[in-house]
Amino acid sequence: MFSEDLKEAAGKFGLTFTDRQVKKFQKFYEMTIEKNSGMNLTAITDPKEFAVKHIIDSLSAFDEKKFAGAKKIIDVGTGGGFPGIPLKIFCPEFEICLVDSLNKRIDFLKEVAETLKLENVECVHGRAEDLAKLPDFRESFDIAISRAVARLNVLAEYCLPFVKTGGIFAAMKGKNFVEETEESGNAIKILGGDEPEIVEKILPDGEGSRAIIYIKKISATPAKFPRKAGMPSKKPL
Ligand code: SAM
Repeated sequence: MFSEDLKEAAGKFGLTFTDRQVKKFQKFYEMTIEKNSGMNLTAITDPKEFAVKHIIDSLSAFDEKKFAGAKKIIDVGTGGGFPGIPLKIFCPEFEICLVDSLNKRIDFLKEVAETLKLENVECVHGRAEDLAKLPDFRESFDIAISRAVARLNVLAEYCLPFVKTGGIFAAMKGKNFVEETEESGNAIKILGGDEPEIVEKILPDGEGSRAIIYIKKISATPAKFPRKAGMPSKKPL
């Protein structure tokens, strides 16, 4: 059963959820499974795998010290709501902006936010490169976070323009994190980021490990970045 699998996995990862949070995670799981076909929200449907690879994994980027004082968080390329929805359920005080370039996923997330009664969740359809030029979005967030969207040198151009100076860009990465970090030095520097700090996390139940690359923003991103939609991935910095 999903809720039992989730509580067990959370315990192994050192997290505790309230009954209210477990109910919200359960509903989110049910809605994802119900709407999955036709929307390609996830390939992971087994309850135990969903609990670990989506919920616990999304929360693996949460760090009490690094997130202290943060209010506004943007999840860039959120897809089916990862990591943004689990983060919001776990830390209801955050204001979360979920961004994706596929409108049907954004419509699904609006329904999730409404059904789960999640307040201060904004679901925005658009490309990161376009949204980061808008005054309401540019350098307006304490944290920009992203999982499974692009290589780090491309992702830095999507995410760092959203972050206030003094804020953090957190990239959730798989096994190629060392190589990706090495090839991103130039992009991070140009876009206003500091030296990356890498934290490795082991997921419960032998589901592997991941790395969170935390990059503090130390200066404003030059106005010409991000370049026009498609350019960051075509010609990474
Ligand atoms: N973050 C989710 C996860 O970890 O399950 C979804 C990952 S999915 C592989 C990548 C998502 O990023 C897709 O939903 C895609 O539409 C979105 N995406 C890719 N490039 C984007 C861009 N430039 N701006 C906004 N969204 C983008």
